[in-house]
Amino acid sequence: MIRVTVWGENVHETTNEIVSGIYPEGMHTQIARLIGADDGIITRTATLQQPEHGLGGDVLEKSDVLVWWGHAAHGEVSDAVVDRVVDRVWQGMGLIVLHSAHFSKVFKRLMGAPCALKWREAGERERVWVVNPGHPIARDVPPSFVLENEEMYGEPFSVPEPMETVFVSWYQGGEVFRSGLTWKRGAGKIFYFQPGHETYPTYFDANVGKVLRNAVHWAHNPAAHLRDPSDAPNVPVGEAPEPISERGPKLHKEGEKGFR
Ligand code: ZN
Repeated sequence: MIRVTVWGENVHETTNEIVSGIYPEGMHTQIARLIGADDGIITRTATLQQPEHGLGGDVLEKSDVLVWWGHAAHGEVSDAVVDRVVDRVWQGMGLIVLHSAHFSKVFKRLMGAPCALKWREAGERERVWVVNPGHPIARDVPPSFVLENEEMYGEPFSVPEPMETVFVSWYQGGEVFRSGLTWKRGAGKIFYFQPGHETYPTYFDANVGKVLRNAVHWAHNPAAHLRDPSDAPNVPVGEAPEPISERGPKLHKEGEKGFR
């Protein structure tokens, strides 16, 4: 069983009638339902409003993949929680970043880039194209599929060059966007997927569900997770794999910790 935690900001669901009309139980609940339709996946949800944003205790340790949806309250996510999420990704937890979470603290930290893009909220038709048909995230997804209403996200998308481009989208107004991208950070795999504006029923779409379930399987790293990815140990001369003798001037004293 792959253990997935779906994190939702849960702000517009409680403050905007259109959004609460589409997602009366919150977007996180519907996203978890969509992903949980897979027999091999077990889901739980967490929201901004819960203590430690629902990610305290051993929740992250027991998450193989974390799904992140945020928009209006990126700044309210505590830096301590961001640090722990980033560390877990480095250790090997998968991360799926949805729609407006391109500006989340977690994603920006992991990308080390502005992650900015063009946008327009006009209910445009979006056609999502599979540009990497052999990729596991595109398995059983048609060559292209249409979302009748989506928010336009346009290039340039200021993220680092991805490891793989899985989807490219076209919008009715003419813009295009790299809508499905992957990266690896430490031992963790990251997938960004563009669809998911909160005033449209995107997370009820069958193809979107397929993509998200595929993405969970792809992002899951079953290998033993790195315990301390930030560890930077000194290897003393006597422990070098091949025998050597020390020579030349040196900066550090014997046994001294490295600088951070
Ligand atoms: Zn949006």
